[in-house]
Amino acid sequence: MSPLESELPKVLRERAEQSIRRLRAAVSEYKNVCYANSLGSESMVLTDLIWGAVPEIEIFTIDTGRLYPETYDLIERVQRRYGKALRIYYPDAAEVEQWVGENGINGFRDGLEQRRGCCAMRKVGPFRRAVSGHGAWVTGIRRGQSASRALASPVEWDSEYGLHKVSPLLDWSETEIWDYIRKKRLPYNSLHDSGFPSIGCAPCTRAVLPGEDERSGRWWWERADSRECGLHPRRIIPAAAVLGDSSGR
Ligand code: SF4
Repeated sequence: MSPLESELPKVLRERAEQSIRRLRAAVSEYKNVCYANSLGSESMVLTDLIWGAVPEIEIFTIDTGRLYPETYDLIERVQRRYGKALRIYYPDAAEVEQWVGENGINGFRDGLEQRRGCCAMRKVGPFRRAVSGHGAWVTGIRRGQSASRALASPVEWDSEYGLHKVSPLLDWSETEIWDYIRKKRLPYNSLHDSGFPSIGCAPCTRAVLPGEDERSGRWWWERADSRECGLHPRRIIPAAAVLGDSSGR
């Protein structure tokens, strides 16, 4: 079913239409586009938009090996709903063995360097392989998620990975994301019902209290300005004009 065929309220339909326009523009401009599905609530909306309206975009996800069981259940439910398979990338087994041997099974707790090393090995390495050869990658980040993401643009040149980064959901609010999920009865991670607004690896994610920053449950023992996994560094260059829509909506 098209993401726009259902009885969505006008505001959601317009949000979805705008996101689809941005996705189609990215395909037209960059040809080979992939979506890095993080399996969070935004990902459920983007999966519905892409598989419903822009299926030429390849969807992949990364299994770090440290995900919650609920996240694996979600992968199955998503695949069943759409009758399609997410491509799943894994860390290099030899790198995992070496890193754990040198740092310990939970060595990422010993300092920022170790934590970034674990994310580099379990997330960034597979991500780099996944986006290799593509002209652009799509992400579900929203401005409301954190101070650093508030500065993002709908299209940026991602110099870290050498391709464009497209963020079609930047201006969706959290309420709109959940309204869309509920109206369309999309699958979502059951941990969201237990106070987890953002879900990553199990040892590095916890529930947050009502009113707390959405990202405060990720790497909560670190300073707020270091809490990114390496996939969204602030070394990117705004390139919104490339897709002809710099309104930010
Ligand atoms: Fe390792 Fe935690 Fe990063 Fe997952 S989120 S890759 S467990 S440091």
